[in-house]
Amino acid sequence: MADKSIKQPENVPGKYYVDQTCVPCNDCIKEAPNLLQYSADESHIFVKKQPTNQNEEKQAKAAMAMCPVDAIGDDGE
Ligand code: SF4
Repeated sequence: MADKSIKQPENVPGKYYVDQTCVPCNDCIKEAPNLLQYSADESHIFVKKQPTNQNEEKQAKAAMAMCPVDAIGDDGE
């Protein structure tokens, strides 16, 4: 489970976040390209936009489910 005490600093505020255990493996961006983005140095992914409709919510959940290191959380603020 992702840890909201070690969120990536670039995450926008809100429910979904990526924590500092992101590898990055790249897989989640394919699931939610509107919501997730590489950091400038490409060392990790962060949440650039929170879901605002059902389709985006589905994409966020799919990205979270397939993350191999459970770096995406849905209990943020
Ligand atoms: S799936 Fe997980 S480990 Fe892979 S890039 Fe996304 S957040 Fe990082």
